[in-house]
Amino acid sequence: MRRRIQSWLGVLALSALAAGQARPLPGPDVQQIYQRLLPQIEKIPIFDHHAHPAFSDDPDVDAMAAPPGSAALRERDTNPELVAAAKSLFGYPYADLSPEHAKWLVQKKAELKKERGNAYFSDILDKLNIEQGVANRAMMADYLDPKRFVWVFFADSFMWPFDNRHERSRNTDQEVYIPLQEKMLHRWMQQEGVSKLPADFAEYLKFVSRTLEDNQKKGGIAMKFEVAYFRSTRFSDPELDEAEDIYKQFVGGDVPSEDEYRTFQDYVFRYLIREGGRLHLPVHIHSAVGIGDYFNLSESNIMNLENILRDPRYSNVTFVMIHGGYPYDRQAIWLAAAKNVYLDSSETEILLYPSEFKNTLKQWLETFPEKITFGTDSFPYNDVLGAEESYWLGVQSSRTALTAALAEMISMGEVSEAQALQMAHGYLHDNAVGIYQGKVH
Ligand SMILES: [Zn+2]
Repeated sequence: MRRRIQSWLGVLALSALAAGQARPLPGPDVQQIYQRLLPQIEKIPIFDHHAHPAFSDDPDVDAMAAPPGSAALRERDTNPELVAAAKSLFGYPYADLSPEHAKWLVQKKAELKKERGNAYFSDILDKLNIEQGVANRAMMADYLDPKRFVWVFFADSFMWPFDNRHERSRNTDQEVYIPLQEKMLHRWMQQEGVSKLPADFAEYLKFVSRTLEDNQKKGGIAMKFEVAYFRSTRFSDPELDEAEDIYKQFVGGDVPSEDEYRTFQDYVFRYLIREGGRLHLPVHIHSAVGIGDYFNLSESNIMNLENILRDPRYSNVTFVMIHGGYPYDRQAIWLAAAKNVYLDSSETEILLYPSEFKNTLKQWLETFPEKITFGTDSFPYNDVLGAEESYWLGVQSSRTALTAALAEMISMGEVSEAQALQMAHGYLHDNAVGIYQGKVH
């Protein structure tokens, strides 16, 4: 502790010499710095830490589906920026996306898909200077080049092995989500040659571990939870006996009460995380607001996970908080104080416009710059607004917001230009790549 304080004093003394006291307002040079920095930041090859690359008719893109919900202003298909995206990526010749004009875009994409095959999505990455990106998908697609796309698979379905009629009937979102979790669990069973869930809980846990190991062998670099869509992210700490009793009682077909189901899930969630530590398989957790009509923001608040993230039993597990906890992004950055916790900014840069996303990034950069990572959350919303356009929007928004945040920090005397560029490399590439021990670049 003492050494840490001393080294901090050293850094403070150095920066005080270099730049004087930090100022509360950017100076008139901020525009100039921005213009100077942007082309340098555009040249940094990106690692995209969270995305769902897919053609719009590919059901394997996610382990869940979007029920009709309320989209934020910028996420609607009326967003004029999508025209700019289509122009930049495909040379789209019109000024709007009217159904008549949009046909051009659908046709252009179909032609390129035919012509370029499994280079189609690599071409999109090339246009945006993304070196490599995560494909967070139910299963990997053969049209994604494995040199450019690395798989992150979903791990939630192991928490729903029982009769889910009560779970489904909670609301119309769950009517959509829960059957897809059942489908996912069956696919893992198929993969592992398990025709019926074992009567014995220890055997069930072995099946779970085997699936994780095999997914890792197939190239999976991390497991992802989107559990916040299906239940609260407050996890209790039940004993093995409790989970075992519930499993034995309900695996045969009876319907568990909500309390019983949650207790069982709390145990399995912690088991999966422990396995993430054993297998050196980082754990990605959806940690922000979500789509749908019944998403419960207070029950999914990123701070609910503090007991997990700060539990010394999981200090060997690397956690990536996907979407950086938005709208609790200010609280979220303090969770990254733990050495094994990282934030991913995907989706936040699309929900917010760059003027406001800049403020989120600035807070993060001013707190734990080495713990924040970039992602697009690219997703094929429909034929017109595809994964392609959302890649573009994520990259453009983040680069400009990042440049603006750093330009202000330089202008206010917080960091030097060299330090700022190092932070940019960290956020866009190095911080995330460092997590995966040579498996990505
Ligand atoms: Zn996502």
